[in-house]
Amino acid sequence: MEYSPTAKELSHFPFLKKAQDHARGRFTSLDSLLKDKKGAALIERALERVQESITPKKTFAPEVTGTPEEEIGAYAFARVIVSCVSDRQLIDRLTRYEAERAYYFLVKEEDWNQNYRQEDGEYSRLCIALAEELGIRITQDRMPLVDYVELVAPLHEDRFHLVNRKLEGGLVTIRKDERYELVRERIRLLLRRDLPHKVPAALCEQLSPRVAQLKKAYQEQMLQQFGAIEESAFPPCMQVLITALTAGTNLTHAGRFSLTTFLHTIGLDVNGIAELYARSPDFDPEKTMYQVEHITGRGGSGTEYTAPACAAMRTTGLCVHRDPLCEKVAHPLSYYKAKKRDLLKKGPKKTDEKKEGKPPAPPT
Ligand code: SF4
Repeated sequence: MEYSPTAKELSHFPFLKKAQDHARGRFTSLDSLLKDKKGAALIERALERVQESITPKKTFAPEVTGTPEEEIGAYAFARVIVSCVSDRQLIDRLTRYEAERAYYFLVKEEDWNQNYRQEDGEYSRLCIALAEELGIRITQDRMPLVDYVELVAPLHEDRFHLVNRKLEGGLVTIRKDERYELVRERIRLLLRRDLPHKVPAALCEQLSPRVAQLKKAYQEQMLQQFGAIEESAFPPCMQVLITALTAGTNLTHAGRFSLTTFLHTIGLDVNGIAELYARSPDFDPEKTMYQVEHITGRGGSGTEYTAPACAAMRTTGLCVHRDPLCEKVAHPLSYYKAKKRDLLKKGPKKTDEKKEGKPPAPPT
């Protein structure tokens, strides 16, 4: 099915090759663009886009503010900016934001434009055409098993598990609303796959004052989100790793990596993390500091690693002692946030167990 979107529609799905081709001819070279007002405005719009991606409550404006070409250009610049920052979590936030934004327009446009539907009222042309552009095959109510399995791997809801699906002739049955969700997941996967871009150092240098402001806002946002460290809200997997460390068990590389990135993201500083590792029987201060600084982005590479999601934790055998809350989350950090919220709702504790920048106490 040939998908021939208008320029406005392309600005809703700026990651499509058709959108990139459309915008390419309308801008001058990158060098001259960055020197004129148009370029400065595009960077501002791109920064706003990244800023929106780290805002907890996202809302999407039904009408884009600039021209379709500016919107597509801002999308591309936003990806350049997060590549310069080189923080996995920020990259994840932006890709999730872009996928959510496309999902919003997809559902909205299908609701608006009845012409996209055939007489049975169910056949959704835009969704199917978009899916085709993105390299997956979705029909009215089913999709090939091989495409389905790849898409649902990071999704944790029971309804996506294959045991809960009807499978016939290599095709998995899906509902109409799930089609939109699967296309959204495909967009997220594709956009995440080719980030970070290799951006020339000179370009990152040119953007650095604005990038520094963004980094600061992002760190403030993270601190607001996670607040003071609350160990009773740690997910079971992290509690087990800390217990093992305290009991003198050497952690595997994956275990150290997961625990370090988790503690770093929720606000424990490098010294606090190293102090925790001092309980390990093979504690080597220099080696530990090197590893911790490397993982937390202070060791020269500038890359901050993010704690693995539950799916990755399962693969490395680190997802253990799951509890009912685990069924509702896809990431140990989401578990932590949700549990912390629950604890807050239940009211303050009699003793102040909150710690700022201090390692968790050994379990008793
Ligand atoms: S489901 Fe996620 S949060 Fe729960 S134990 Fe497994 S990895 Fe940890």
